[in-house]
Amino acid sequence: MKPPPFDYFAADSIEAAVQALADAGGDGKIIAGGQSLMPMLNFRLLRPSVLIDINRIPDLAYVRDDGECIRIGPLTRHRTLETSSLVAEQLPVLHEAMGYVAHLAIRNRGTIGGSLSHADPAAELPMMSLLLDARLEIQSLSGRRTIDARDFFLGALTTDLDEGEMLVEVRLTKLRKGTGWAFEEVARRSGDFALASVGITLSHDDGKISNVRIGLMGVGETPMRATDAESLLAGQPFSETVVTAAVDSIRRTVEPNTDLHASSDYRRHLVGVLAEQALSKAWQRATQAAHD
Ligand SMILES: Cc1cc2nc3c(=O)[nH]c(=O)nc-3n(C[C@H](O)[C@H](O)[C@H](O)COP(=O)(O)OP(=O)(O)OC[C@H]3O[C@@H](n4cnc5c(N)ncnc54)[C@H](O)[C@@H]3O)c2cc1C
Repeated sequence: MKPPPFDYFAADSIEAAVQALADAGGDGKIIAGGQSLMPMLNFRLLRPSVLIDINRIPDLAYVRDDGECIRIGPLTRHRTLETSSLVAEQLPVLHEAMGYVAHLAIRNRGTIGGSLSHADPAAELPMMSLLLDARLEIQSLSGRRTIDARDFFLGALTTDLDEGEMLVEVRLTKLRKGTGWAFEEVARRSGDFALASVGITLSHDDGKISNVRIGLMGVGETPMRATDAESLLAGQPFSETVVTAAVDSIRRTVEPNTDLHASSDYRRHLVGVLAEQALSKAWQRATQAAHD
C-alpha cells in the first residue's frame, strides 16, 4: 500500500521543527526512523498534511554521561543504545532489553524518541523508561517542559505530547553500584512485539530486598509499574512466600487484552512466570554484588 499525499519539510533545528508543527496546526507529524509512522501511513491510519523530518537536525543523536544520569538524544537509534558501552555499564537492564526490540534492520533506523512518542504498549523502551524513572524533555513554541515517564503514557499509542510538541531528550538515572536487575520477555518469534515482558531492578540490603522496581509490558493499554508488588517485596527477606505474593499481586493487577497472538488469560499467566524468573535473577545478581 502507498501512503496518502503529504508535504515534506526537512527541519535543520529543533526550533524549525516545532515551528513547522505549529504552522501545521495539529496536522503535522514528525518523522524520525519511520519504522512505525510509515506503516501507519501506508495503512492510511494517519493522514498528516506534512511530515517534518528531524533526521538532519545536528546533535540529536547521543548517549552522554552526565554524572548521576545518562542523557539520550531523541534521534538515538535503537542499535546505538544496544551497542553503547556506557549503557551496558550503567544501565545493564536497558542494554539487555534492547536486543529484544524488533529486528536488526529496524533497530538500525528506529529511535528512542520515536518509540516513546509512538507508545506501543508492547514496546521495550516505553517500559524501560517507566522502570528507570525516566524524565522526558519536551519542546514547543512556548518553551521547554519536563515530564516523568510515569505521567507520559496515557493509553495505547497515546501520550501526553501535544500536537505542537517534540520530545527532545530522555534522562535516565544510572543504576547504583550493586543493583540487581533482570529482563524477561516472551514473543512468538524473535523480533516480534512481546506477548509479555518484565523488567526488574532491586538491591540487597543486609539480606533484605530494597529499592525494588518492577516494570511490565504487553499486559495493558500502557506499560506499567507493579507498585503493589513492589510494596509487598520492599524490606522483606527474599523467600518463596514473598515472591509468590508478589506474583499473585501482579496477576491480579494486570488487564491484558486478548488478540490474535494470545488470550488475556495466557498473558496473565505468562507475566507471573516471567516476574518469578526475573525476581530470582535480579536477587541473585544483587546478592552476588553484595558479596563481591
Ligand atoms: C516489523 C516491526 C517490528 C517491530 N517490533 C518492535 C519491537 O519488538 N519492540 C519495539 O519496541 N518496537 C518494535 N517496532 C517499532 C520500532 O521500534 C520503531 O522504530 C519505533 O516504535 C518508532 O521509532 P521511529 O524512530 O521509527 O519513529 P517514527 O516511525 O518515525 O515515528 C513514530 C511516531 O513518533 C512520532 N515521533 C518520532 N520522533 C518524535 C519526537 N522526537 N518527538 C515527538 N514525536 C516523535 C512520530 O510523529 C510518529 O507519530 C517494530 C516495527 C516494525 C516495523
